[in-house]
Amino acid sequence: MRGEPERIMRATAEEKYLLVWPHGDETLGPLVGHHIATERPDLLEHVNYMCGNPRAASQTPPQRHTNGITPGYTAKGTDLNRSYSPSKKPESYEEWRAQEILRETRNHRLTLDLHTSTTDIGRCMLISERYRDDEGVREIIAASPISRIVVLPENITMPNGAQVELATTGLIGNVAGSVSVEYNRELAAETGVEDTLLLIDGLVSGTPRVAPQEREFFNVSDFVLKTQDPGEDAKNFKMCDLGYYPVLYGENSYRKDPTKPYLGFAAATREIEII
Ligand SMILES: [Zn+2]
Repeated sequence: MRGEPERIMRATAEEKYLLVWPHGDETLGPLVGHHIATERPDLLEHVNYMCGNPRAASQTPPQRHTNGITPGYTAKGTDLNRSYSPSKKPESYEEWRAQEILRETRNHRLTLDLHTSTTDIGRCMLISERYRDDEGVREIIAASPISRIVVLPENITMPNGAQVELATTGLIGNVAGSVSVEYNRELAAETGVEDTLLLIDGLVSGTPRVAPQEREFFNVSDFVLKTQDPGEDAKNFKMCDLGYYPVLYGENSYRKDPTKPYLGFAAATREIEII
């Protein structure tokens, strides 16, 4: 499942679906890819699987992204999920991979971007505000058993006025009909594969395998800055004392990492819709 992704790109059906494993140190992507290859070969006609970052994934231990400058590139490795800049000449290995992935998404009807989180997030999906009402995005939500959806804005304004690009540099902000699926690490191993197969079976057959249900949309508006730490008692998706819903919050490594100015995202509002 690590590397040479083109070797398992062989779906022949007219309507194809793409699975992307973007971060080399995360487990949901390869678990799902391995399950399909070994247990559900019937799906290989419809579903392609792509190792997004073969260089990072094939290191021991696997890395989130490459660290140094890969020969042939001019910049150090970057987070693949912040490397989508379609009109720019790639400088890092990940910026080049992002363009390869974008090219592949064009041959596929819908794309799932599979992640694992070290935060205590349970399971959720992430979509871009830009594609909030996109038909393909809604089709993926309707086929998924996951009820929490995080809506990422194109960018976030920092207290000093600087704009930090968010969805615009990720897959979901650049591709209509794409959704990120996020599981915490333990849950990815317990139910992540089963859930994702339920979702894929619903998409491929054209009929969701789950009933319409209440879906909670959390509209991200800010970062949770370290200078405004709501404390370790604050829980993901629960309104905190500071009046917002923390999302992807609480990763201990962020607390300790001086280069990260934030602890997660803050959603100011929550909407409920039956999908
Ligand atoms: Zn990830």
